[in-house]
Amino acid sequence: MCFFTSLEVKPNVAKSSIDVYAAQCDQCKKWRVIHSEEEYEEIRSKISTEPFYCNKKSGVTCDDAADIEYSASRTWVIDKPDLPKTPEGFRRHLVARKDYSKLDTYFITPKGKRLRSRNEMAAFLKQNRKYEGLSASDFDFAPPKVMEDTVPEIFSKRGSDSVRKKIKMTKNEDKSADITGDEDFE
Ligand SMILES: [Zn+2]
Repeated sequence: MCFFTSLEVKPNVAKSSIDVYAAQCDQCKKWRVIHSEEEYEEIRSKISTEPFYCNKKSGVTCDDAADIEYSASRTWVIDKPDLPKTPEGFRRHLVARKDYSKLDTYFITPKGKRLRSRNEMAAFLKQNRKYEGLSASDFDFAPPKVMEDTVPEIFSKRGSDSVRKKIKMTKNEDKSADITGDEDFE
């Protein structure tokens, strides 16, 4: 698999966490920065049948130095290959959890509405006849995978154990709350 984006956790969820798009050359394995999300999605949508090569960027060959190196200096996430391109007017929006454990996928409609799941998308398309040509399956909510070796150290393996313990403790607290009949479901 050869397709990554990089990620920066930003406090403002109105902004996507992704700040750089990159594709790896199938021949020299160097990383090339892809300048627009649209171009990136175009490459990704058919990466299994049309591998990416350096010379797909104009004026660039495999002899040129890599644009960016895969390293822990930034967090990398890998998109699923061949995900469909986001339909025109919509935007795919990825937001990282604070602990870098995973990303959440949203789609933003042309009018700025944020949809969080395929069900929400299906309901939206049903209500808005002008998108008749689209179906919820044109939108893939599968989030990219976070590359654990590039996650900031405080959140990586050892860090996440203590996070897990904390979560367990919180769950126990919830249990005692249940006894008092004070349910607090999301
Ligand atoms: Zn190359």
